[in-house]
Amino acid sequence: MQVSGNNSYDLVVIGSGPAGQKAAICAAKMRKKVAVIERKRCIGGVCVNTGTIPSKTFREAVLYLSGLRQRTFYGRGYAVKDQISMQDLVFRSDAVMAREIEVIKSQLRRNRVTVLEGNGRFVGEHQVEVLSDTGSTVVYGEYFVIACGTRPAHDEQIPIDGVRIFDSDQVHELQELPRELIVVGAGIIGLEYASMFAALGVKVTLLDQRPLMLDFADREIVESLCFQLRQLGTVFRLGEKVVSVGFDQERDRVFAKLESGKTVHGQALLYAVGRRANSDQLNLEAIGLHPDGRGKLIVDQNFQTAVPYVYAAGDVIGFPALASTSMEQGRLASCHIFGVAAAIPANLIPYGVYTIPEISMVGATEEQLTREKIPYEIGIARYAELAKGQMLGDDQGFLKLIFDPATLKLLGVHIIGDRAAEIVHIGQVVLAMGGTIEYFRDAVFNYPTLAEAFKVAALDGLNKL
Ligand SMILES: Cc1cc2nc3c(=O)[nH]c(=O)nc-3n(C[C@H](O)[C@H](O)[C@H](O)COP(=O)(O)OP(=O)(O)OC[C@H]3O[C@@H](n4cnc5c(N)ncnc54)[C@H](O)[C@@H]3O)c2cc1C
Repeated sequence: MQVSGNNSYDLVVIGSGPAGQKAAICAAKMRKKVAVIERKRCIGGVCVNTGTIPSKTFREAVLYLSGLRQRTFYGRGYAVKDQISMQDLVFRSDAVMAREIEVIKSQLRRNRVTVLEGNGRFVGEHQVEVLSDTGSTVVYGEYFVIACGTRPAHDEQIPIDGVRIFDSDQVHELQELPRELIVVGAGIIGLEYASMFAALGVKVTLLDQRPLMLDFADREIVESLCFQLRQLGTVFRLGEKVVSVGFDQERDRVFAKLESGKTVHGQALLYAVGRRANSDQLNLEAIGLHPDGRGKLIVDQNFQTAVPYVYAAGDVIGFPALASTSMEQGRLASCHIFGVAAAIPANLIPYGVYTIPEISMVGATEEQLTREKIPYEIGIARYAELAKGQMLGDDQGFLKLIFDPATLKLLGVHIIGDRAAEIVHIGQVVLAMGGTIEYFRDAVFNYPTLAEAFKVAALDGLNKL
């Protein structure tokens, strides 16, 4: 197949989510000729259109309109708005998404990255066809970064209609706020939405066949999350397998039948049992690349696949499947392609779970250190003891430092509560520098702040030795 010079690129990126954007911009900054292929109206990927940005903005709207944090002061019945509608909540997300899309478009334009609108699929070695409403073009790439992301995993047996039974991509299209919500899947996405709806006063029942939620997180933090979600009326049914989901016309209710014989009823159901990679739509057979069962692409430490001129980054390569890590993977893939040395510092990836309350962590957990027979001590700061925690109305949050009792070296930071995902980065820096908790003891922190929790926790830890 003939490809003209105009359609030849040093790098062709498939997908404009966080991984694709950063791969493209990094290569463009190295003066490479770069194209990004993206479907119509999908610039920014899942991150901007259906995932991170809409869900986190929705959360901000929930926190503001429900007045949840203010209730500590103004009473349980306090809310900024009495009857909160889906329109009130989605309005804010739409505004932020529109602005984010403009920012991304402008960044790509400024860096002279060509955006090709359409569906990309491989048609031969180094060649991708871009199929759009206006026809098809074949582009040649010296190298490729596949950053095609994922979509919600569906099951033929689950009658998703986007109205009463919906997935996480459809939350923002709901016309009304359900009175009761069944959430199937207590992974990060399921839990985040469960907590947001619970904060709005929706009666939430959370179902998962796994007995443990968030198994990568600190147990004490997860217990506190469960406690706080129960306070908001959430019912947990963990270790319960859902065998069928349906809609009862007569009662006008959705139901989930469990293997244990129970049936859970509700007004609506969110199906959030994981995501499937979009690699099945890329005709990868044309280049001899074979994804695994869920469509994930296998890459080495440089994000290179088994086909040397094809790299992959972001959710399509699996865990941790975060926007934060995807961006960095995309950048590192381009760095490797064009011969620039770079790497993500091992074990220093922070995790943010934007439930209400928020959770964040970096470094080792107590459970991990116990398994590995590594001695440790902990220091805790409770938000209730921090002036700022009281001002914010968060009297449940806490920060836990895990450290080596012999060397005082910081090993891990775990936080639940307001702004956890922001302040965790203070710990991340100290971990990256191989620092000790003496740094927190000796440093002067702004007062009053939540960051002060690091000092309080360090003093608590040192007092135990
Ligand atoms: C509800 C939800 C909440 C989330 N919250 C957070 C959070 O708070 N923090 C966080 O870090 N992460 C969060 N994530 C995860 C985050 O959104 C993803 O990790 C991130 O978007 C992955 O980036 P990506 O570049 O791999 O792909 P994506 O963002 O999935 O983008 C892939 C793009 O590729 C395009 N594409 C696919 N196939 C083709 C093709 N054949 N041709 C052309 N284009 C194609 C798609 O249209 C899409 O736009 C959340 C995800 C969801 C679903």
